[in-house]
Amino acid sequence: MAGIEPQPGIMEIALYEGGKSSVAGVSNVVKLSSNENPFGPSPAAQEAVKRVVHEMHRYPSTDHAELRAAIAEVHGLDAARIICGVGSDEVLQFLCHAYAGEGDEVIHTEHGFAMYKILAHAVGATPIEVAETERVVSVDNILAACNDRTKLVFIANPNNPTGTMIGLAEIERLAENLPPQAILVLDGAYAEYVEGYDGGAQLVESRGNVVMTRTFSKLYGLGGMRVGWGYGPKEIIDVLARIRQPFNLSNVALVAAEAAIRDTAHVEKSREDNSRLRAWLAEALAEHGVPSDASTANFVLARFTSPDEAWACDTYLQSQGIIVRRVTGYKLPAALRITVGDEASCRRVAHCIGLFKAGAR
Ligand code: PMP
Repeated sequence: MAGIEPQPGIMEIALYEGGKSSVAGVSNVVKLSSNENPFGPSPAAQEAVKRVVHEMHRYPSTDHAELRAAIAEVHGLDAARIICGVGSDEVLQFLCHAYAGEGDEVIHTEHGFAMYKILAHAVGATPIEVAETERVVSVDNILAACNDRTKLVFIANPNNPTGTMIGLAEIERLAENLPPQAILVLDGAYAEYVEGYDGGAQLVESRGNVVMTRTFSKLYGLGGMRVGWGYGPKEIIDVLARIRQPFNLSNVALVAAEAAIRDTAHVEKSREDNSRLRAWLAEALAEHGVPSDASTANFVLARFTSPDEAWACDTYLQSQGIIVRRVTGYKLPAALRITVGDEASCRRVAHCIGLFKAGAR
């Protein structure tokens, strides 16, 4: 209606496109489009959900004390500096909501996660896109883009959809040289897949301007439960807590996450299988003439010779019941992102890409 207008920035938002989960007319689909754990959730998480299902009429915990304690124990962190959200997306949203608004700038990288731009627009701030170097985040480019309006800098490490990452020394250099009013947000949605990487937890401990975000949606196999968390300086976490809805996480989600993080056997198996199958998949694709970037996460970015070829391959894969992710919106039109599935799915997608390269359409 004339006169009724949304807040500034809202109409700039391009709707987020999630990974498809079905293809019309095709049954027995292999879904490799959303970086989910192919081994599913921990059996302990499923049992925990069954135990609380009869309590659906009860409101959940408002302070998430038990889940925060479990996260703190497993990661060696201070529970008082953890905040939980409906997926890590919600924690990213808290950060934008609390720290950015009209006239402010929010930095994200060229091939960075799509939500950064959406969330910046949603609060009326201006997203600033910074070029990467050969699909790797460039600290120099980010620092060159900073100014006195910069409020948040988002980097995913490992990055989605490239799978690449930068080292802690580079991240530290970035944090060190940011303008004083800016927060560095280290999105560690895939951090658990990297042996020996703490997602930036140590950096959070040593600095006042870094927040780390993590998720239960990937390695822990709980994408459908929507649980994520953030870790940061106490002053920042206290600010975020003021805008969090008191009952943001359901009681089933809370117990599932707590059980999942304590099931170290499931976590270890998922991590090991992912490393092995990721290496296998990357090599099998390379043998078929499809190179990929050195991924550190649970997906590979398969590179084709042109956008047309990537598009044709995706169409062929769909006709074979395999769903991967087009990443055109991430300025990678000649690439397809393929989640590392279980062994049968990896074999199937590699086989079909081989057939496609050999001329099948
Ligand atoms: N960050 C990155 C880099 C992601 O790829 C994703 C999921 N696609 C998220 C954050 C959000 O995940 P969730 O909200 O499920 O925790």
